[in-house]
Amino acid sequence: MWTVVILVFLATAIFDLVLRFLAYKNQGLPAPANLRDIYDSETYAKRSAYGKERLRLFIVADACSALVTLALLLSNFHSVLFYFIGRHTPNMYLQALFMLGVVLVISQAVKTAFAAVLTFKVEAKYGFNKSSARTFVSDRIRDFLIVHVGLFLGAIMLFLFLHGLLGNAVFVAFVFVFALYEIVFMFLGIFMMGGKRKPLEDGALKEKIEALLAKAGFPIDRIFVRDDSKRHSKISASCAGLGKTRTIVLGDNLLDGRYSDDEVLNVVAHELEHAKAYQDLRLVPLRFAAWIALVFMAYFVVNSGAISAAFGFTELNVAFGVYVALMVFCVPVMHLTWIPVNAMYRSNELAADRFGARMAGKEAAISGLKKGARDNFENLTPHWLNVMMSATHPPMAKRIENIEKNV
Ligand SMILES: [Zn+2]
Repeated sequence: MWTVVILVFLATAIFDLVLRFLAYKNQGLPAPANLRDIYDSETYAKRSAYGKERLRLFIVADACSALVTLALLLSNFHSVLFYFIGRHTPNMYLQALFMLGVVLVISQAVKTAFAAVLTFKVEAKYGFNKSSARTFVSDRIRDFLIVHVGLFLGAIMLFLFLHGLLGNAVFVAFVFVFALYEIVFMFLGIFMMGGKRKPLEDGALKEKIEALLAKAGFPIDRIFVRDDSKRHSKISASCAGLGKTRTIVLGDNLLDGRYSDDEVLNVVAHELEHAKAYQDLRLVPLRFAAWIALVFMAYFVVNSGAISAAFGFTELNVAFGVYVALMVFCVPVMHLTWIPVNAMYRSNELAADRFGARMAGKEAAISGLKKGARDNFENLTPHWLNVMMSATHPPMAKRIENIEKNV
């Protein structure tokens, strides 16, 4: 079992470094022919240089993090900590909290060091850094307490408690939680609609959108504008809900004058196709299969006495099992199961792009996509392996080509 854990960890770490390296290699390649006019050459060169420097830092940071985790595993650090604290308290929750807490502090210290370099060296050099040393430190401390101690350790403690209470039935409970998550997020889409929103004002644009909805045979009378511009300058739009709750939400950045009415219509039609064709619905079984694979993996790893024994524990240690499930096996399982999910997301995007272009016109669709790519600082030359592993949207060059060829 020792060999399996170490080999899976090493293989995943090396694969992820290769992905980063390929992204680094492709960053700043000449833009594809159909995207030359998105950035001027000076902006493109500056963004590429910034992207390359960021990725270089990420490669070093990832390698260091992996080496630290590997060193902790190879030295049986977890069981040493566990038996050390065991001499002071018999409480199994305190023992688990101490063991995982110390490991968390070590791994976060490494990550924080690299985050500081990223913020104050790389981002400052390109004029992107807006935070002072004081904000950086207080943000990091707040992050550590809320996200890592509160949510991460809190969730593990809750799991240990439920596992103690329910035994392996807790894994069945997980499946229900994920099912609920899918229903709430995919079907109702309630939470993606955060921020303040108000109804779209009457006027030419609203009439055009209503005409488009009628043409598409998709009656929706709830059209809202959300105050995205208070948080970022990116553009966004969404369409979600079932029956009478069906709602279209447009980010206000889309309506600030940068985009023509036809370009806005194209965005609305694109989102409509996602909702109309129940594209998201078809994704549910695939996403669900991915979650089930994770739960199965967790079930076997958490209950494996052999894994505990291989790293210095005299009996099954559930907390260590959770750690190994999260740090070693979670990423490779997600890599494998999300390849088909992401592929389906990407083919849905192409279908939505075609529909948008048919409804709002080819020119508006292409010029809108290009403006969006520029305003969202999109990477124009991603490596195909990175696209396959993690992209929910196809590369911009392919999206434009898809419209040019098929509409
Ligand atoms: Zn889309």
